[in-house]
This record gives sequence, structure tokens and C-alpha cells, in this order.
Amino acid sequence: MSNDIPLALYFHWPYCLSKCPYCDFNSHVAASVDHERWRKAYRAEIETLHHQFPDRVISSVFFGGGTPSLMEAHTIAQITGDIARLWGLGDDVEVTLEANPTSTEAAKFADFKAAGINRVSIGVQALNDPDLKALGRHHSAAEALEAVAIARRLFERFSFDLIYTRSGHTLKAWEAELRAALPHADGGHMSLYQLTIEAGTQFQTLYDSGRLTIPEDDLAAQFYDLTAAVMEDAGMPAYEISNYAKAGQESRHNLAYWTYADYAGIGPGAHGRLTFYGGPNAQDAQAAAAHTRIATRAHKAPDIWLKTILDVPQGSTAGAPASAPYSAFQNPEILTPLMQFEEMMMMGLRLRRGVDLDAVHARTGIDPKDHLNHAAIAALCADGYITQNGTIIALTAKGMPVLNAVLRAILL
Ligand code: SF4
Repeated sequence: MSNDIPLALYFHWPYCLSKCPYCDFNSHVAASVDHERWRKAYRAEIETLHHQFPDRVISSVFFGGGTPSLMEAHTIAQITGDIARLWGLGDDVEVTLEANPTSTEAAKFADFKAAGINRVSIGVQALNDPDLKALGRHHSAAEALEAVAIARRLFERFSFDLIYTRSGHTLKAWEAELRAALPHADGGHMSLYQLTIEAGTQFQTLYDSGRLTIPEDDLAAQFYDLTAAVMEDAGMPAYEISNYAKAGQESRHNLAYWTYADYAGIGPGAHGRLTFYGGPNAQDAQAAAAHTRIATRAHKAPDIWLKTILDVPQGSTAGAPASAPYSAFQNPEILTPLMQFEEMMMMGLRLRRGVDLDAVHARTGIDPKDHLNHAAIAALCADGYITQNGTIIALTAKGMPVLNAVLRAILL
């Protein structure tokens, strides 16, 4: 019943050279990493996932982190090899690696390509050295542009990230920086993030004590509008809140999240959303008609994740892949229709094209009439934060930076 249903695969590599002061991702600094153990653990999880979802068509693969460009290319090659052996991996399937642009990592791009990577997403973040230093980055602006140049030579598709609303950032400086970046962006995709102060980060401590300031909301909104206008002019309009692309160059993997398709998360802290068509243990016609959507989340701590995947007691796994009882895919949370409805709204509204309420209704069985605040929708339309065109609700450029407030207002 699940033949031909797409499945996106995410692999999380949790290590970085150091912790950037603004970062709240699941990233860690380790004195040493046993790459062989990591290879084994990823491969065991792939086997377990295949055991549960053998008939899927792999639609994209994404290596994120952390800094996955610190992985050994051999690890990537074994993972892509396993995927190809178990499900098949067509040449046209997007296989992305997030990379930091130090010269050491850029020198590995050719090996990553040979290992099956066909798209890189490079964390450039800023185009001047003082700001890169303030962001805790290990590369210089020149190194970053050299890494982008290597990516351009090797990969048909690539993207790079910049961060704006940095401390002391002005609209004029950002416009000049963005325009200087554009000639390097002929991969057709850029991710442009607004710097935000995240709980538990070094920047939060500095911000709370008044030693760090960043542009406040009104000015940040002007940065957002400026970014959108420059990118629109350049033929790479926003297709999501922070992502800009030429038509056809959108990240297929990230679209799987935003369109609420199935994706599996492998590695510490990785999330997944998976649908059992027919239910996990369908025995009869009624059960077979049911769709059960589950949420998975792997243990966040790298060492514990490795241990739970690899240290399987003898005799506990008869008839199943060796890691099965300890896998992230065991004991998932079952998502109720209402939870799915809310997630589809949250993810779909990130996209510029918006979310089709009829599709949400058909998918979840939840009638939007009963679970959306229609007075709030009308007010937000009147104030220019969202538009409603038939059954499609979409954020405007004004609404994009305040998605969370819009969601709070419209979800009952
Ligand atoms: S390199 Fe990326 S994941 Fe690692 S600490 Fe810096 S921002 Fe976070």
C-alpha cells in the first residue's frame, strides 16, 4: 500500500569545530570522534527504517548538523550506498550536504561529490571578517567565496547562507553585502536568515546584560522588506520565509517538511514524520483503511544516541534488524488528526504559495471551519498580514516575519 510514496531522509551530524555564540542547534564540540562507530550507527538505523518502510521511493537526502562537512566522505558513501541498495537512489534525487567554508572542508567537496552528494549548502553567513569573527566563525570572507567558487565548479546546484540584522548592521551595509553576494549565487538558491537571540546561547547572555544589541523589531522588518525586494529584483524571490530561489531551484528536501510529506530523521535529536498507510499493524480491511502518522525524535545527546543504537544486548533482536528495539523509530508518538491539522497549517504557511485549506481537510479529516478563527483571518487580511484566495491562505511579505503571531491568532 505504500509503494511509490516518497520519503525524504535526514541525517544529523552533531559535531562542530566550536560552538557559534548565536547557535541553539543540537551541535557539540568533541575532542575526538570515532567515525567508524558513527558509520555503523547510521547504517543500523537505515536498516531499521527500511525494515518498517521497505516500499518507499527516496525523494531527497539531506546531511545537516552540526557541521556535516566534518564527516568522512567514506561515511557519506556508505550511507548513500546503503540507500541505493535498499530502496534505490536515482541520479535525479537531491542529495544535499551542509558545509562550512573553511579551506579544509572545501578541499573535501570533490570527495563528497564522489560519495553521492549533488548539492551543497554553504554557511557563508557574512562577507566581512570582523562580523565573521563576531559570529564565532572559523572562516574568512575570502575563504568563504573560494568555497562557493569550488562548489560552483563541482555542483550544478548549490546554495549559501547569510545572516542579517547582526550587531551594528545597517540597511545600507546589508544591501551592499547582499548585492555583492548575488553574482556568486548562480546556483539559484540562497538562505537569508535574520539573527535572533535564542535561549541558552552565548549571545543571549550578552544581550541580556546589554553588551550586545541587534536591530529591534521595526528595523528588523525593514531589513526583511529590503531583502525581499533585492532578491525579487534578482529573480530569486522568497519561496519560504528565509529561502530564496530561482524557479526550479528550491530545496526539494526542505519542501518535504513544509508540504508535510514523510521524512525520516536519523542521528541525535533528529525528528521524523512518517505515515503508516493501513496502520502500523493492519490486520483487517478497516485497519488497512486507516492512516497513522507518527512523530519520531531520536535521543539528543550524541553519546547516548550512539550507545542506544549500537549496544544491543545479545538475543534481543530475533527476526528484526540488530538495532530495532533501540531505534528512534520505536515508541513513536502517534499524531492525532488535530495535531496533524495544526502542523500542516504551521508548516504550509511558511511557504509563499500558502496552504490550501481543502488539502488540509482532505489530509487530516479536520474541517478548517471548526478549528480556525475566521474573524481573526478577516482582520489579518484587512491589516495586510495574510491573503485569502478561495481556500488558499498565504502570508504577505508583511506577515512573513510574524508567522508565530499569525498562527496564535488564527488557530483555535
Ligand atoms: S557551525 Fe552551525 S551548527 Fe555548528 S555551532 Fe556554528 S551555527 Fe551551530
